[in-house]
Formats: sequence, structure tokens, C-alpha cells
Amino acid sequence: MRVLVVEDEPALAAQLVTALSEAGYAVDAAYNGVDAHHLGDDETQPFDAVILDLGLPQMDGITVLKKWRAAGRAMPVLILTARDNWHEKVAGIDAGADDYLTKPFHMEELLARLRALIRRASGHASAELTCGPLVLDTRSGRVMLAGQALSLTSHEFRVLDYLMHHRNEIVSRSDLIEHIYAQDFDRDSNTVEVFIARLRKKLPHGLIETARGLGYRLVCSPDLQRP
Ligand code: CA
Repeated sequence: MRVLVVEDEPALAAQLVTALSEAGYAVDAAYNGVDAHHLGDDETQPFDAVILDLGLPQMDGITVLKKWRAAGRAMPVLILTARDNWHEKVAGIDAGADDYLTKPFHMEELLARLRALIRRASGHASAELTCGPLVLDTRSGRVMLAGQALSLTSHEFRVLDYLMHHRNEIVSRSDLIEHIYAQDFDRDSNTVEVFIARLRKKLPHGLIETARGLGYRLVCSPDLQRP
């Protein structure tokens, strides 16, 4: 999952980027409203969620959000507001925010709200995603196969996490690329096919189906056996 962090306070921005990266997200950051608008408006590199501070230089967060929504950008947006500024929350939600947090906040709460936003945007209400014998706990980032913990690298996890969130759909290779890498990541040496091949070795035969010329699809049958 790919997340955009928009925050002009350098220390807080760095904390957010670190915490989100450690939680397994591909993270891009913007430090003013103009850059934020530009990044979030790029249809070819969609974000799965945005964390948006409202008090920003060059263009304020409410304006950024209104512009995105007016252009049809529908990704979940969690806004960060100043304490005791209730009218800012109202304006933010009216502008199209999906949730808000008041500064200062606990990072754990931000991560929990973010997980919920991403789950709901892909149509899942539960924190545990299940596909046949496979269970991904979005809270802990743990993956269990038939009751046993599965060890995955961070990129293997990102690929599987995205497929699990879209488990009834065909996911194209370019979709995966857009959602598992941050913008400035060297993608050439880490192709999606490599991660899919590694995942297949760890997962039941047939769980990741190749839809020829289209992409990949998870086949969620309880009958699938361990590899
Ligand atoms: Ca600010």
C-alpha cells in the first residue's frame, strides 16, 4: 500500500515517514500544499491513502483536498488538525476528508485509523483478511497459513497485502507496481514477477492465479494445501 504524507513540520513529517515505512507502507512525502496537490493528483501513481496536515505553506490543506475531490481523486484522506480548532475539522470533513486526528496524536492511533480507512476503501470491514487457509492480520502485519506464521520480506508482504485487499479482483502488474513502491524507489531491480514467484513458493499451489495478459488474482478456496 502506498501512502502520501503531507506535513510541513520537519520533525513530525520524519516521524510519520519512519512509522509508516516500519509499518510496511511505501511512503512519499510532501512539505507544502502545491507539491502535495501535484503528487496526489497524479492518476498514473495513485495513493491508497493520504495523511494531510491542514496548515501548510503555499496552498492550505483544505484547498488541496477540495481540488483533489473536484478532479475525482477518491483516495481516503485523514486530516491532521490543530487542537481545539473544531471548525477546521468540520471544514475538512465537508471538503472530503474521511477521518481526522487532532495534534498531538499517538502514532498507534494514526496507524489504526489508516488501516481502517484502507480496509474500508477496498470494501472490507474486518481487520483480518482471509483467503482460503491464508489469514492476514492488518493490525499486526502477521500472515498465517493454516494456523502457522508465514515469514515474508517487506516487499513480499506489500504484494500479498495488496492482493488480499483486492482478493476478488484481477490485479494488473502495473497496479501492483504503483501500490508497492514509493515514487523514488529503484523499481527495475525489484520486479513484481520476482516477488510473485517468491510468494508462490511459500503459498499453496494455485492460490495466486495468473490471468494471462491481465495480471494476478487470488483464488480463495479452503481446499488449497500447503506448498
Ligand atoms: Ca502545519
